[in-house]
Amino acid sequence: MSKLVIVGTVAFDAIETPFGKTDKILGGAATYIGLSASQFNVDAAAVSVVGGDFPQEYLDLLTDRTINIDGVEIVKDGKTFFWSGKYHNDMNSRDTLVTELNVLETFNPIVPDAYKDAEIVMLGNLHPLVQLGVLEQMTKKPKLAILDTMDFWMNIALDDLKNVISKIDVITINDEEARQLSGEYSLVNAAKKIHAMGPKYVVIKKGEHGALLFHDNDMFYAPALPLAEVFDPTGAGDTFAGGFAGYLAKSGDISFENMKKAVIYGSTLASFCVEKFGTERMVNLKPEDVKTRLKQFKKLTQFDIELN
Ligand code: AMP
Repeated sequence: MSKLVIVGTVAFDAIETPFGKTDKILGGAATYIGLSASQFNVDAAAVSVVGGDFPQEYLDLLTDRTINIDGVEIVKDGKTFFWSGKYHNDMNSRDTLVTELNVLETFNPIVPDAYKDAEIVMLGNLHPLVQLGVLEQMTKKPKLAILDTMDFWMNIALDDLKNVISKIDVITINDEEARQLSGEYSLVNAAKKIHAMGPKYVVIKKGEHGALLFHDNDMFYAPALPLAEVFDPTGAGDTFAGGFAGYLAKSGDISFENMKKAVIYGSTLASFCVEKFGTERMVNLKPEDVKTRLKQFKKLTQFDIELN
């Protein structure tokens, strides 16, 4: 098993979907990544920052799942990062209503000593300079550095983002963001352009339409499991990334063939995330649930055609 470092926001989210509205609830990229990766019982540490307003019980949710939080700084007189979003009726697109960086504005990440030699680093969504700062603290070059980001950082810190993208192995990004980053509408061409920026592997997440994995001229596609009820897609992308990174950390195998399985795990875990508001479904997720859904996934995607 490999050690895993997870970077990203630990946040308050306020979400509005056609099915309802929440006040400030637990959210954040590192939260979703951590909850998802914890399904693999990996040795993982989160690196993030919260304010004095952040409830201890939320942090306990991570430690209960054996995620080390020594690298989660608590700024006693600061306010936690806050994000608010509203989903459109198709639930596949959303508008960001509020992004308050708060304690993230002055955050200097510190990777706990015991995790500076981690083999897998998951640079979740936050300022690219923080992502870079974490990468630079690693005493050994990680076997795999994975990066996730979003349009917000492309809009305000594109050069810093491009710099960190040039240093990582895998990027996970959604379809619209891949188009924005590359200037290409076709996702195949977008992946080619993003490859040229540095990452050997490009994963493009397409919400309810699944995910694509690109490597050189190879391409792999995993659908998302069609669900009868989708309540809240928030965190699905991070949950995907957490499942992807968690599975690779557990198996220690970073070949393209194994990455295909990581994409399936990522998609499977993301299919749970959207079933309830916020982190609720991920907090209560049992290994048996994951196994049952993987079986469904296999049935959904397997076919046997004889080619002669
Ligand atoms: P996802 O739905 O996977 O894109 O992730 C949603 C999560 O990302 C929410 O829980 C937010 O707290 C967090 N988030 C939203 N905007 C940002 C941002 N600009 N940087 C870091 N995290 C963010």
